[in-house]
Amino acid sequence: MSKPWIILFPLVAALAIASACGEKSSELSQRCRAAGNDRLQSAGLRVYRGSSLNAGELQVGTIPACSDSSQATQIYLLARRALAMIPEDLRPAQVSIHVSPTLTAKTPPINVTEVHRESNSILVDARSLKRIDLSTMLHEMAHVQMASRAPSGTIAARLEESLGEGIADYYAATIQGSPNLGKIKGKAARDLSQRPVWLRGGWTRLADASKPWLAHEQGWALAALLWSQQKEPGAILRDLITCMKSARLDSSESPAKVIDSWLASCPANSRESLVKLMHRWIPSSMY
Ligand SMILES: [Zn+2]
Repeated sequence: MSKPWIILFPLVAALAIASACGEKSSELSQRCRAAGNDRLQSAGLRVYRGSSLNAGELQVGTIPACSDSSQATQIYLLARRALAMIPEDLRPAQVSIHVSPTLTAKTPPINVTEVHRESNSILVDARSLKRIDLSTMLHEMAHVQMASRAPSGTIAARLEESLGEGIADYYAATIQGSPNLGKIKGKAARDLSQRPVWLRGGWTRLADASKPWLAHEQGWALAALLWSQQKEPGAILRDLITCMKSARLDSSESPAKVIDSWLASCPANSRESLVKLMHRWIPSSMY
C-alpha cells in the first residue's frame, strides 16, 4: 500500500519553506522601499552588486533594486541601521558596500567583511551573511571613517593594522552599547569585557614577517583596555579617530618610533593619556 504522506510531507515542507523565503524577501524589499528608494541607496549609503576586484583595482558594479537580491537588501538594511546609530561627527560621509565582488585569481578571498583601502569601500562575502551583524557593520564603518593609509615597513604596517582593528572594535562597542562583537556559532567573536588570554607571546612576532600577525586579537587587547576606561562614544574615541586619520607613521623597524610618530598626530591635550594607554597595551621591552 502506498503511503501518500511520504510523498506529501516533503512536498508540503518544501512549499512551506519556499513561501517563508518568499515572504521574507518581499518583506525585505518592502522595508527597503519604505526607506524611500527603489534601489539600495540612500543618503550616504550605496550597495553594489556585480563589482570586481582585479589586482587591487575595484571596478564598480551596479546598484540593485530593492527586490533584486535579498542578500544585498539585507546588507543594505543592516548598514542603514548602523549608520543611523552613529553620532553625526563620527559617521562616514559616504559608505559604499560591494556585495560579493568577482575576485581575480590573485586576489585573496574576502574574510566575511573587509575594507578595500584604495577605494575606502566595504567588501562583503554574501555567503557569510549569518556572521554579519550590526557590530560587524559598525566595525567596518569605523575603518571607512578612519580612512587610514597602510604604511611601509613590517612593524609600522602591523602596528597600524592592530591600532585600526582595536579602534574599530571600540567604536562598534561604544556605539552599540555592548562589548560583544561579531558572532561565531551563536557566540560573540570578541568580547571587550575580557582580554584575549591566548595572546601571550603574540608581540614577539611583531618583527617576524615569516609568522602571521594576529591584528584583530592584538586590537582586541587594545579595545578591551579602552572599554574598561570609557563605555560611551566619548572624547577618547574621537581623539583616536583623529590620530588614525592624520597619522604619518615612521617606517623604521623600531616599535617605539612608530608609536611616537602615531602619537604625534593625536590631539595635544590627549597625548599624555594615550602614551599611558600605549604602555599598558605594548610590552615595556618594545615601548
Ligand atoms: Zn577590521
